Amino acid sequence: MTSTQPADSHSIIVIGGGAAGMIAAWKAASSGVRVILLEKNAKLGIKLLISGGGKCNITHGGNMENLRQQFRANEARFLKHSFYQFTNADILYHLNQLGVETYERDDGRAFPTSGKAGDVVHALRRLMERAGVEIRLSTPAEEIMHDRAGACGVQTPGELISSRQIILSTGGSSYPKTGTTGDGFTWAQDLGHTIVPLRPALAPIYLDPVPSAEWQGVAIRDCILKAKSKSETIAKWRGDVLFTHQGVSGPAALEISRDAFLSLEENQRVNIHVDVLPDVSEPLLEERIQQEVLANGARILETLVELFVPRRLAPFILASTGITGSKKCHQLQKDERRIIVRTLKDWHVGGVKEIPLERGEVTAGGINLHELDPKTMRSRIVKGLYVCGEVLDIAGPVGGYNLQAAFSTGYVAGETAAADNRNGSTQTLNDNSRQVDS
Ligand SMILES: Cc1cc2nc3c(=O)[nH]c(=O)nc-3n(C[C@H](O)[C@H](O)[C@H](O)COP(=O)(O)OP(=O)(O)OC[C@H]3O[C@@H](n4cnc5c(N)ncnc54)[C@H](O)[C@@H]3O)c2cc1C
Repeated sequence: MTSTQPADSHSIIVIGGGAAGMIAAWKAASSGVRVILLEKNAKLGIKLLISGGGKCNITHGGNMENLRQQFRANEARFLKHSFYQFTNADILYHLNQLGVETYERDDGRAFPTSGKAGDVVHALRRLMERAGVEIRLSTPAEEIMHDRAGACGVQTPGELISSRQIILSTGGSSYPKTGTTGDGFTWAQDLGHTIVPLRPALAPIYLDPVPSAEWQGVAIRDCILKAKSKSETIAKWRGDVLFTHQGVSGPAALEISRDAFLSLEENQRVNIHVDVLPDVSEPLLEERIQQEVLANGARILETLVELFVPRRLAPFILASTGITGSKKCHQLQKDERRIIVRTLKDWHVGGVKEIPLERGEVTAGGINLHELDPKTMRSRIVKGLYVCGEVLDIAGPVGGYNLQAAFSTGYVAGETAAADNRNGSTQTLNDNSRQVDS
C-alpha cells in the first residue's frame, strides 16, 4: 500500500525504484523498519520493462562463482560477498513465490515464462507492498542532505524528508528517458565520492561510412567481431552481429563496445572486422574453396562467396577484395583465392564513428568501488549512505548479469541500512574504512 504519512528521521529512504532499489526497499522493510521509496517516474522499474527486449533476462543460471567471474576483476572482487548473500536462485525463488514462472534457456539465461518483463516488475512491487514499503511515485529526489553526522535527509519538490539511512539506487546514465539521468553520480560527487568516468557499455557501434542500405537488417550468426586499433585486436567477441542503419549491433557488437570506446576516447582510429567462419582455419577454408572451384568452375564468384555469408552481403564482401564478382570460379587465381580467404576471416566492415553512451544497456564507470564496503554497501565517505545497482562502477556482459548485480547489491544495502537503523546508526566511518577485499 502506498502511503504519504510524514516521514521521521527513523525512516530509511531509497532513491530509485529500479531493480536494485526495489530489492533494497523490500529487504529493509521486511525487517520491520519504515522504508520510503522515491521514484521520479509515474511507474516503477521502467528500465526493467525494456530489459531483454521487453522479455527481461532476469539472471543467469549456474553457480554464483561463474556469474561473478563474468565481470572484470575489480568488479568481481566487489561482488563476491553480495553475490552469495542474494543469489540467482534467491531472486527466482521470490519471483516464483509471487506467481512468476521462469525458465532457463540452453545458454543459461533466465526469463519469465510469460515473456513479459511487466510480470517481474509487478512481482517486485508486490514484494515491497507486502513488506510495507511506502512507494512514492512521481517523486524525484533533488538533493541528498547531510550534516556533520552524515546523511540526514532527501529534498523532494514538496518536502524535505529526514532520514539517517539513505540508499542510493538511481541507476546509470544511459536511456535517460527511462529516468536514469545520472543524478546519483552528481550527488555522490558533491558528497565527496569520486566517479570513475562514465562510458558506454553494451552499446551499438556507429560506423563511418554507415553500412550500405542493402546490408541493413542482415545478421551474421556466430561470427567473431573484432575491434582493431593500429592493426592490433583490442576487443573481440563471438556471437551474432546485426547491421543497422548506423552501424553494428547485436550481442557481439554490444560486448566489444566498452573496450572499443576506450581506444576511441584516446583519439585512436578503431576499425571493426568480422571473422565470418570462426571454426574454419585459413588453410581449411582455402581447401574448401578450391574444392568448390574444381566442382563448379562455371559458377560466378559471387555465388561461391554466398556459400559462406548471408546472400545480401556477398557482393559487398567480394567488392572489398577488389575481385570482380561476375568472374567465373575457374578463372580464380591462387593469390585471389588467398585474398578471399583472408577477407572472410577478417572482413573490414568500417571505422568506428561513435559509441553512444545513451544507447548502452549499461553505464560503465560510476561511484568508485574503493569508496564502498562490499560487505555492507556502506559509503566509506558519508555515514548513512548506502549504494547499490548500476550507479556503482560495475558493468557486466549481456546475459542477466547486470540485473543480478543490481538485485544482489540492493539486497545487501537494504539489509545493512535496516540493521544500522535498528542499532540507532552507531556504526562509524572508521568501522567501515577497510580496503576492498581482494
Ligand atoms: C535496453 C536495455 C535492455 C537491458 N536488458 C537487460 C537484461 O535483459 N538483463 C540484464 O541483466 N540487464 C539488462 N539491462 C541492464 C539492466 O536493466 C540495468 O543494469 C538494471 O536495470 C540496473 O538496475 P538499477 O536498479 O541500478 O537501475 P535502474 O533499473 O535504471 O533504476 C534506477 C531508477 O532510479 C530512478 N531515479 C533516477 N534518478 C532519480 C531521482 N532523482 N529521484 C527518484 N528516482 C530516480 C529511475 O527513474 C529508475 O527507475 C538492460 C538495459 C537496457 C537499457
